[in-house]
Amino acid sequence: MSQIHTLEALQKTLRLTPSEMAWHEDSSTVPLAITDHFLSLIDPDDPCDPLRAQVVPTAMENSSRSWENIDPLAEVAHSINPRLVHRYANRVAFLVTDVCPMYCRHCFRRRFTGSLQGPASEDEINQSADYVGEHPEIREILLTGGDMLTLSNNAVEHLIGAFRSRRPDLMIRLCTRYLASDPSRIDCDLINVLRKFNTAPIFIMTQFNHPRELCPESLRAIALFADAGFPLFNQSVLLHGVNDDPEVLAKLCENLLAARVKPYYLFQGDLVSGTSHFRVPLERGIDIFRKLSQLVSGLALPVYAIDLPNGMGKVNIGTSDPVLDEDHSRWTLKTPDGHVVSYPAE
Ligand code: SF4
Repeated sequence: MSQIHTLEALQKTLRLTPSEMAWHEDSSTVPLAITDHFLSLIDPDDPCDPLRAQVVPTAMENSSRSWENIDPLAEVAHSINPRLVHRYANRVAFLVTDVCPMYCRHCFRRRFTGSLQGPASEDEINQSADYVGEHPEIREILLTGGDMLTLSNNAVEHLIGAFRSRRPDLMIRLCTRYLASDPSRIDCDLINVLRKFNTAPIFIMTQFNHPRELCPESLRAIALFADAGFPLFNQSVLLHGVNDDPEVLAKLCENLLAARVKPYYLFQGDLVSGTSHFRVPLERGIDIFRKLSQLVSGLALPVYAIDLPNGMGKVNIGTSDPVLDEDHSRWTLKTPDGHVVSYPAE
């Protein structure tokens, strides 16, 4: 796999716009990296290409709104150690590595992603596996980051083995964007490693945001997982200029389902620094989702959800009856456990 890391190198393939040229990396942005595979899917003649918007940074990333921050879900406050987040009683997230083969400009975990920390240490793995072993109420672990498939197959096997040796019953969500960013990473060797861990399910959690990402190479990689019996779920982010159109989302969801990937979540963009240009106002998001639900079957319809700021949990927008304030500047939402939360309308 090869990647592009600099604007100068990117300029040779895409004619960059002034806003793209003006971007600079700072403490609240993620680095620039685009895989050759994903770059090959971008139309170089379209500055508004929805795939380009996801991976080519612009100067808009260098400004933030007052209600944004780099840890909108308060993961640090819910961390057991630098790699283990315990926000919900029955599941934890383990941050395997901060490295991704390609960095999404809308990434919500920009406090960590691409921060040059590398894979978790042996101590962090063992300490986290011990913690999960001592907490039987934890039923699931999300192996996330970063992208855990930047690890070698040997390292993947070692990592999963560390958790499963303490908890053979632990269900695993393997979170990866490789199926979109570099599907050649998914091969029989990886499948054979994962197959060894058959005492509890391993779910593959993907992120496709636009139907054009589902190219033949991605469909081949999906089929490898599905044929081997690993269920796949997709988590999309609703993104302005990428998929804020019911017809585009309908095509994405139907094509995912046909490929044996269940559309699971459509997330409202988190309130993360430098991403306001991607966020679709909630009122419009609700309208898009209502139209989407008329276009696709129940099986193809994801849950439209907000992951609330400060670790307040997820709210299903479709069933939570959000109320817009009179001055149209804030929404009032109710969490499943009855808390009332105010959320910006922009
Ligand atoms: S693949 Fe995930 S962790 Fe990596 S940049 Fe994209 S959203 Fe962030």
